[in-house]
Order: sequence, then C-alpha cells, then structure tokens
Amino acid sequence: NLSNKFQEVFKKLKGKGKLTEEDVNLALREVRIALLEADVNFQVVKDFIAKVKEKAVGHEVLESLTPGQQVIKIVHEELINLMGKTNAKLNDAGSPPTIIMLVGLQGAGKTTTAAKLAHFLKKQGKKPLLVAADIYRPAAIKQLQVLGDAIDVPVFTMGEQSPVDIAKASINFAKSNLKNYVIIDTAGRLHINEELMDELKKIKEEVSPHEILLVVDAMTGQDAVNVAKSFNEELGLTGVILTKLDGDTKGGAALSVKAVTGCPIKFAGMGEKIENLEPFYPDRMASRILGMGDVLTLIEKAQAAIDAEKALKMQEKLKSRDFDLEDFLDSLQQIKKMGPLEQLLGMIPGMGKVKDIAGMVDEKELKHIEAIIYSMTPEERRKPEIIDGSRKKRIAKGSGTSIQEVNRLLKQFEQMKKMMKQFGGMEKQLKKGKKIK
Ligand code: GDP
Ligand code: MG
Repeated sequence: NLSNKFQEVFKKLKGKGKLTEEDVNLALREVRIALLEADVNFQVVKDFIAKVKEKAVGHEVLESLTPGQQVIKIVHEELINLMGKTNAKLNDAGSPPTIIMLVGLQGAGKTTTAAKLAHFLKKQGKKPLLVAADIYRPAAIKQLQVLGDAIDVPVFTMGEQSPVDIAKASINFAKSNLKNYVIIDTAGRLHINEELMDELKKIKEEVSPHEILLVVDAMTGQDAVNVAKSFNEELGLTGVILTKLDGDTKGGAALSVKAVTGCPIKFAGMGEKIENLEPFYPDRMASRILGMGDVLTLIEKAQAAIDAEKALKMQEKLKSRDFDLEDFLDSLQQIKKMGPLEQLLGMIPGMGKVKDIAGMVDEKELKHIEAIIYSMTPEERRKPEIIDGSRKKRIAKGSGTSIQEVNRLLKQFEQMKKMMKQFGGMEKQLKKGKKIK
C-alpha cells in the first residue's frame, strides 16, 4: 500500500548526508508513482510533486536532520495542505436546528453514517433527530429505526410519502421537540441520474440545509472523486464524509477529494460499528499515509514547546550518556508544557510500555517529583546509582514523601532515560543548517 511505498522511498534517502537536486528528483519520481498507483488523480499528483520540489530544492535543512528526512517533512506538509490543512468542523445554524443532509450513492454508507453522526453529536450533548427520507427500499426505514433505537436517538418517519414532505415535516417536528440537529438520510442510486439529483435538489430547496454532506466509499478510489465532483456541481456540497477508511483503501480518494472539488472531508468512517466515525484530521491522515504514526506531529509539538537551547543541551547529554535526574526533571517540565503526556506517547509507535510514566505528569505528581529531586544532593542527582537505602530514607524524609515514592521515581527515571535514547534523533530538528543543493 501507499505507506509501504513511501517508506521504501524514504529508506533510500536515509543515510545520505546531503541531497542533490538529482536525489530529490529521483525520490519524487517514486513518490509520484506511488501516488498514481494509490489512485490519486493525475493532475493532483502533478501539482503536488511540483510543490514539493519547489520547496525541497534549495530549502534550508534543519541541522542534523538528514536531507532525506527534510524531504519527508515537506512531503508531509504538502499532504496536509492537499487535504485542507485543518479539521473542517460542521457548520452551525444560527438558530437551531442545524440541518444536515446526507447524500450519496447506494451502499456508500449514508444510513450507517447518519446514525454514527447522531451518536457523535449526542455524545457532545446535542439533541439529534434522524430522518428517514429514503422511501424506496422499505428496509431502509427499518434500518435507520434499528440504528436509532440502539443509540437512543429518535427517528422521524412518515412511511413512503414524498421525501420532500418528510424532510419539511421533520424540521417542524425537531423545532417543537427541541432537537437541535436534524440528520436527513436520503435515498441513493447505483449511479448518478437526473431523478436522484432532482429529488435531492427539491429537498435542498425545501429545507435549506446548513450542511450537505456527500457520503462516499473510500475504497472506490478515483470513482469516489468523480462522484464527489458531480454531486458538488449539481448540489453544492459543504463537505464530504469518507467511509470505509478502515478497509484496505489505497488512499487516493482521501488525497484527491479536496483538491478536485474544493470540499473538505469532514468525517471519516473507520468501521461498521456506530462509534467508528471520526472527525477527519488532514495531519493525522498524512501521517498515516506516510506510515509514521504521528511522530511528525510529535516533532512539531516538541519544536513549539522545547526551547532550542535546552534541547541542545539535552542532546549533548544524551550523546554523552549522562542524562541525569536534573535533566529528567527538566524534561518532565518541558513535556508538561507540550500537553498530556499520554497523548504524546500514544503518538509514538511502540511506545505503549512507557505509558505508565504518564501518570506522573499531572500537576500534583510533578510537585512530588520536584520535591524529591530537590532533596537530593547534586552528586545524587548526577549519579542516581549511588542512592542506597539510607540515602533514600533521607530523601523521602526531606521531601515529605515515602521510600516507595522515591523508588518509583528512580524507576521512572530509568524508563525515561531509555525512552530518550529511543528518540534521541528528535531534538536534532532544532538547529538550523545546510541546504539541499
Ligand atoms: P447506504 O446505502 O448509503 O445507506 O449505505 P449503508 O449505510 O446501508 O451501508 C452499506 C454498507 O457499508 C453496510 O454494510 C455498512 O455496514 C457498511 N459501512 C458503512 N460505513 C462503513 C465504514 O466506515 N467501514 C466499514 N467497514 N463498513 C462501512
Ligand atoms: Mg441507506
């Protein structure tokens, strides 16, 4: 798949000290092939490659970061731009209810997504109403009712009356029942046709939705993009929901939709279960496509929070292998600035083991850790291995903690030390340096 391909390309770039323009071209040729094979629209690929190249050649490379990694960074940034930079939120009606109309071809996942979206909104304390406006398959109404029951969200039905009338009546129902979101599940067809579009246009005219979201199956690749284009031209979409991203999709749809239609992807369906709907984050998707967990996000957060000087000092420490308890305290204080540690650790592949360190970065724990470390002599901070039983007793007493707490801290320190070694490469980002020629 796409992320494997990318990793192969970038593996070749690793180990190289400097990249020539030729190297950049070579790498980008492979990126180009990988994108085309992933079913990304060819015009999108062309523009994408041009942008990356423009940025990569002659770009300043952060010190110690290999030029290859720098190219990864640029590719990553451009992937994010391609998908719309940030998460596009749902439009909000000035006065409720917010009316959301789901449209799309048969089997794309509209009915399922309607229920998922209702569940998502309900969890945020909103009061959604589901509307069964697909009257052509009797099973469709039933399907929505079953889903609505499961999540305890009311489903508005009027049997097989005109979908336009149903939609209209549902808005009044929502108003008089204080529902602040109306989600209309419409009928699909196997292919786009005039009849379908006419009906959808009529519903649109009647209820003036705040959101017209196209539900498309990500597995269908470029077809998904063509479908999005047609629906957008006919109806004027406000956004797209990509479903079945949990499957073995090639990624092409996610990468092309925004560029081709101008409509942001607002949500992603990640499975058949009701809770498998996620707001779509271009940066996370880009990282997923690059197959690097959210390491890149981590790097960016770290960059924002750690001041360069400290990081450089830390780098020296790590190199000389004398990362000590003072650095430990320092890094904890830095990490705290970055946000919940748990969240950060979750972003690093294979980092689950260190998660129990997360417990100590809440405010109170950090105070304890500070107290313990400040109760140590400078020598003890530099050489924790000299801390024996009687020293532990003294430290515990001096800091108003217990021997167990001192032990725990020392253990966490060891874990942290290991962890720091694992991504010792990270802090390299912070110095500036060479150019790619
Ligand atoms: P509709 O015809 O557009 O209303 O499509 P449905 O909501 O009936 O969904 C069609 C099929 O796709 C169902 O079997 C769903 O369970 C499945 N489906 C929908 N969304 C997802 C998703 O995000 N992931 C997976 N794996 N299956 C999905
Ligand atoms: Mg349906």
